[in-house]
Amino acid sequence: MPVRLIIDPLDFARNAGAHHGKIALSELERLQDYLIGNDGELQYAVTGTLNRDARPVLQIVVHGSINLQCQRCLGEFGHALDLQTDLLLAQNENELSRLDEDESVDCILAISDMDVLSLIEDEIILSLPISPRHGENQCSIDKTRSNDAAGEKPLFAALAALKNLH
Ligand SMILES: [Zn+2]
Repeated sequence: MPVRLIIDPLDFARNAGAHHGKIALSELERLQDYLIGNDGELQYAVTGTLNRDARPVLQIVVHGSINLQCQRCLGEFGHALDLQTDLLLAQNENELSRLDEDESVDCILAISDMDVLSLIEDEIILSLPISPRHGENQCSIDKTRSNDAAGEKPLFAALAALKNLH
C-alpha cells in the first residue's frame, strides 16, 4: 500500500510547512506507463510559503533518475529528474481561472485534503519529454540502419508507426 501524504495546502503554506522524503518509483502508478523498470526511488521536498503578494504557494522539488523508452529504437535511456516548481494556490474556481490568465505562474486549486505524492507525480509527468529519444549518435536505430539485418527493419517501422498513433 503506497504511503500517502495528505495536507491542507492553505494551512501548510500559512504555517510555513515543510516535508521531505523518498518515494519508490514503483509506488507512482501513473508514471509506470512511461518507465522501463521501476527500481530505485526519488527524493522530494514540499514547502509551504507565501509569495511577494502574500499569496499561498507550494514549492515542490524532485530529484532522481528514471529510465524512459526511446521512441525511435524502443530501447531504454536514463533521464535525470531535477524539478523545482512553485504552485500558486487558488482558493476557489474563480480565483483559479483569474490566476491562470497569467502564463508566468502555475496555479492549482487548493482542495482541503490534497494528496502531495499524487501532485508530485503530476509534476513529474508534466516534465517528461513529449517524445523521449536517445541523443544524437546514441540511438541503436542508427546502428541498425547501417548493418544489413533486413528482417528487423519492418518490425521497427511497424512499432514506430504504432507509437505515432498515440
Ligand atoms: Zn534510441
